[in-house]
Amino acid sequence: AKLTGRGRCIEYHPELLAERQDRRNLEMDLRHAIERDEFHLEYQPLYHIESRRITGYEALLRWQHPTRGLVPPEIFIPLAEKSELIIHIGDWVLREALAQAATWNENLTIAVNVSPAQMRGEMLLGQIIGALATSGVSPGRLEIEITETLLMHECDMHLRTLHRLRAHGVRIALDDFGTGYSSLNYLRRFPFDKLKIDQSFVQDLPVNAESRAIVDIVLTLARRFRMETIAEGVEEEAQLTTLAEMGCQQVQGYLIARPMPAHKIPAEHRRSRAT
Ligand code: C2E
Ligand code: CA
Ligand code: CA
Ligand code: CA
Repeated sequence: AKLTGRGRCIEYHPELLAERQDRRNLEMDLRHAIERDEFHLEYQPLYHIESRRITGYEALLRWQHPTRGLVPPEIFIPLAEKSELIIHIGDWVLREALAQAATWNENLTIAVNVSPAQMRGEMLLGQIIGALATSGVSPGRLEIEITETLLMHECDMHLRTLHRLRAHGVRIALDDFGTGYSSLNYLRRFPFDKLKIDQSFVQDLPVNAESRAIVDIVLTLARRFRMETIAEGVEEEAQLTTLAEMGCQQVQGYLIARPMPAHKIPAEHRRSRAT
């Protein structure tokens, strides 16, 4: 582990997090992360196989802790979800991602992760519509990614929010498909525009017959429900080829590009005249 000037360890140690005090400290720091400007977003391309074009980017949140270094979202998002913090962080992410998308070509979409905890209150709809208006990005360019955990509760309020968002023109994707409390029943009740096949199914494609079968079923299901499909975690050419043969429309993963800071987004994707 490297030491900073003050002698503190900048590497992130999972074993330390096991201690409750440490977790509490981290949560306290998280409360000040927005005002201290410690968050930034990285963007990972969504790639359309047939046209060989990048159609948009997914925004992924990064927290640069002053002494711990980069804290993984898998650690701090759950912490934020336990309190109201996720509402503020989620709002920051939306505004930042949309402000960024406003500088891109108008045919590029921006995908934003929305935690189930953000849908607990009545705030989300207003936040999204407000952030869209401020940025001037048209609603059809925004894709909200939600996970199956949300659907577990079969809450009418969530359903209403999703329908309203969709009526506003926002697209809705179901993230990590196949990993959660999968019930096919909610596909009848929730208006998804897109299914994201989880990377765990993509990993051992094309050698594993079981993974192949699952991906095949998901793709068939998506076609029947007229949902778009994207596979995440694509790292190898063979995975891309197999997914293309099976009729998956889009991919995302290290093979195309790793998540990158905003300034690394290619000039061809930027508007010539910034607003
Ligand atoms: P996710 O939404 O499933 O995002 C995909 C994750 O897979 C990202 O991890 C991405 O960097 C990683 N990834 C992309 N391509 C590859 C690949 O080819 N191979 C492998 N092994 N991994 C790949 P990341 O950025 O660490 O984010 C982890 C999770 O944290 C996300 O999973 C999402 O659930 C959550 N998250 C990130 N940003 C936000 C946010 O702004 N809001 C909320 N609510 N959650 C977020
Ligand atoms: Ca996602
Ligand atoms: Ca995912
Ligand atoms: Ca995931």
